[in-house]
Amino acid sequence: MFSTRTTYHLHKYYLSSYFSHLWRIKCHTRVKQFLWRCAYNSLPVAHALAHRNILDNEDCKRCRSGETVLHCLRDCDSSKSIWKDLGSHEDFFNLSLTEWLSASMKNNEAASFGVPWSTILAYGCWVSWGNRNNLWFRNTLNNIKPSNRIKAAAVEFFHLGKNSRDYPQRLSKLVYWLPTLPPQGWYKLNCDASAVCNPVVIGFGGVIRNPQVVGLEVTVVAWVKRQLA
Ligand SMILES: [Zn+2]
Repeated sequence: MFSTRTTYHLHKYYLSSYFSHLWRIKCHTRVKQFLWRCAYNSLPVAHALAHRNILDNEDCKRCRSGETVLHCLRDCDSSKSIWKDLGSHEDFFNLSLTEWLSASMKNNEAASFGVPWSTILAYGCWVSWGNRNNLWFRNTLNNIKPSNRIKAAAVEFFHLGKNSRDYPQRLSKLVYWLPTLPPQGWYKLNCDASAVCNPVVIGFGGVIRNPQVVGLEVTVVAWVKRQLA
């Protein structure tokens, strides 16, 4: 019987180990997350959108073939030329999506400028997807040769960014305001101001305290809002 338990074990023992190398690839976190979506065949390509009746057809806008994830990232002529520029051989194009990504994610042989192939793969998929989206949504193509953009991004991250933290360390700091009353014989003014639309509307206000006023028992004594334009 197919249940939540069987789904969990399927994922734990098969799928997760299949793509366990994904999270070790030396690339930006956003690129890893994108690869995860590729590996699980969950990109919004035309084939998937047509299957959900969002599009009328599943045509690739670049070549009019059916646009699956594999077609978009690897097999479309424009994507294929990128991978060939990067040094891929013909057997590279004979694998299924799962076989192709899985084998490439494990491949840490140096491919270009000492950068492992897995990193080149990650940025190759990322740039191919970006090219596809530029054509779909902006009807433009980047003039820089895609293989050069991929190498540049991979080399930059591998040699400069791989040791940086993906997320800056967060420091929690409690911020609060402690009202201090003025000494006897004194009054204290707390004020603030703001401007909107640089500067069309401005406003400011203030609270004057004497030594006997505590907590919220204060009186707003001034508030001004002015339209300047
Ligand atoms: Zn195509």
